[in-house]
Amino acid sequence: MKKHNFYAGPSRLSEYTLKATAEAIGNLAGSGLSIMGISHRSAEFKDVMDSSIEIVKELLQVPEGYSVLFLQGGGSMQFCMAPYNLLDKHATYVNTGIWAENAIKEAKLFGEVEVIASSEDKNFSYIPKNWEKNVNPQTSYVHITTNNTIVGTQYKSDPVVSVPLVSDMSSDLFSRPVDISKYALIYAGAQKNIGPAGVTLVIVKDELLGKVTREIPTMLQYKTHIDKGSMYNTPPTVAVYACLKTLERYRQLGGVEAMHERANIKAQMIYNEIDRNQMFVGTAEVSDRSNMNICFVMSENYKELESTFLEFIAARNILGVKGHRLVGGFRASSYNAQREESVKALVKAMKDFEKRYK
Ligand SMILES: *Cc1c(COP(=O)(O)O)cnc(C)c1O
Repeated sequence: MKKHNFYAGPSRLSEYTLKATAEAIGNLAGSGLSIMGISHRSAEFKDVMDSSIEIVKELLQVPEGYSVLFLQGGGSMQFCMAPYNLLDKHATYVNTGIWAENAIKEAKLFGEVEVIASSEDKNFSYIPKNWEKNVNPQTSYVHITTNNTIVGTQYKSDPVVSVPLVSDMSSDLFSRPVDISKYALIYAGAQKNIGPAGVTLVIVKDELLGKVTREIPTMLQYKTHIDKGSMYNTPPTVAVYACLKTLERYRQLGGVEAMHERANIKAQMIYNEIDRNQMFVGTAEVSDRSNMNICFVMSENYKELESTFLEFIAARNILGVKGHRLVGGFRASSYNAQREESVKALVKAMKDFEKRYK
């Protein structure tokens, strides 16, 4: 039976990715060997890694002077790796929710951290604006989180700052065009929009490295992985392969511009229903609503129907809509691999729930 999968991460992967990865686990490109059981130093895997780096550069139009890395440790490892490599004395962070808070906590281990703007006053329901002019010109970098997976907010334009800009794009990279040249460092755990869990994509501007004087453990230096083409140690070979297939699929469908268009359409269908249906309320400021994670709650008069709604949709094979454990309510995640058919099934379920319970 077909399930409608709205999980926030790890999240749905395309049939193309699953089929191609399953095939390669049996027999990689006719080699007679499994992608799971070959050396990462083999010509076959080297080709997989090279192609993966190339397709990232192609889809995101990564300019000269940047390195593309496939690392491990998740988005969370980058919370410490970024300041380890880039924070000299002072760094600037924008606090837009739990992931940003985790990043801030780690950065404090390495120097002075200034939180220049925060949306904590309203439960992180919006993206703070107009802080750019207050950035200390001496700061090592400004760190933002472009899509806030848990609360469902998203930057709609890149902040303009005169210092290096670092971004956690774990839940929206490849869902829209990004001008990479505006960023010093971008990182993203793969399991939202790039592939399966176990690999983290990093795009880093080479000239910003080597400026801090502290000793950095070998595995935590970006330079180690740049010099070795993400093969300093054993990479998660199967996960990288599945990322390659996912990105190939994005290319087939028209690249990040096409992904952006589809993401807008899918998210808007759900937001339209939230705004029309009096039983539900969106939790994010309308202008900052995420295309990737659509967060909502039962409206005041229907609060006690929250679990009833989850059961109602589960009976229709709609899964993963329960909100993050720290915020409650509902969250429908709609990354690139989300099907329009599933979005329509959710919208229909919301309408039918209204007919039955309102
Ligand atoms: C999921 C997520 C993370 C954490 O990723 P892990 O791979 O679990 O460490 C960090 N930031 C954002 C924005 C996320 O969505």
